[in-house]
Amino acid sequence: MVEFKTLKDLIMLAKERKCKIGEIVWEYEAEVEGASKEFVWDKMVKHWNVMKRSIENGLKENFELPCKIAKRYAKKFLEGKKSFLDEFMSKVVARALAVSEYNSAMGLVCAAPTAGSSGVIPAVIYSAAEKLNANEKEVILALFTASGIGLIIANKASIAGSEAGCQAEVGAAAAMAAGALVELANGKPEQVDHAVAIALKSIMGLICDPVAGLVISPCIKRNAFGAVLAFLAAEMALSEVESLIPADEVIEAMDSVGRLMHPDLKETARGGIAITPTGEKIREKCSRKEVFKSK
Ligand code: SF4
Repeated sequence: MVEFKTLKDLIMLAKERKCKIGEIVWEYEAEVEGASKEFVWDKMVKHWNVMKRSIENGLKENFELPCKIAKRYAKKFLEGKKSFLDEFMSKVVARALAVSEYNSAMGLVCAAPTAGSSGVIPAVIYSAAEKLNANEKEVILALFTASGIGLIIANKASIAGSEAGCQAEVGAAAAMAAGALVELANGKPEQVDHAVAIALKSIMGLICDPVAGLVISPCIKRNAFGAVLAFLAAEMALSEVESLIPADEVIEAMDSVGRLMHPDLKETARGGIAITPTGEKIREKCSRKEVFKSK
């Protein structure tokens, strides 16, 4: 029976067996589900297909955000002229925006770890796989790595904005993606730890303050930032940059920050940008009733 409670446990297992963290998580998932490894693999392939389709659908022009609360920017960003980002990073950002916009319009996404943060992992893994010319097996293993990291964060802390703020949603997604990127790039298991720690501590303290209580603003753009953060954290770890604080301790710190966070800053839409004058106006205009009427 594969057992792990911490990222340190996972890394030790991967080192002992001289395999990727993703392979340990794959085996663990099969044991927990009481299913064959093939079954669990196929299930992850289905999740991957949903992620790919959400990128594709999010870049189409045939939908609007509920109540027309905000414009859509993914396609515009993809096609627009850039001053600073290269083509690769522009695609990463556009893809994260695309999936998040699609989620906001109630499109089918893979909640990884949540619907609100569902743009990060598809954008990051799709773009990295394209750049590294990775095959499907490598991609699916990287997704198992991400899911193992997410499981540890969920068990040791939280992956819910209502419990620990956006650090637990977009932050967790960025950490999961960063660790997966390290494995996709054939980094060492310890580098996964550093990537997760660097990503999570860089976003620590981020509140959850959705305007009008809808997962639209600031959520969509935060997904793009989470995707960029994942690449930066992974690149640092792959370049032997180490986190002073191990990932497991960063996760515990994130949990304690989440507990200290005032309830107004945890998905209640009673703080942050949700209660700015503009945020309040949007709340008045977009009551839940109107949101559903506009669909
Ligand atoms: S702001 Fe809140 S609802 Fe929006 S993505 Fe972050 S945690 Fe989710």
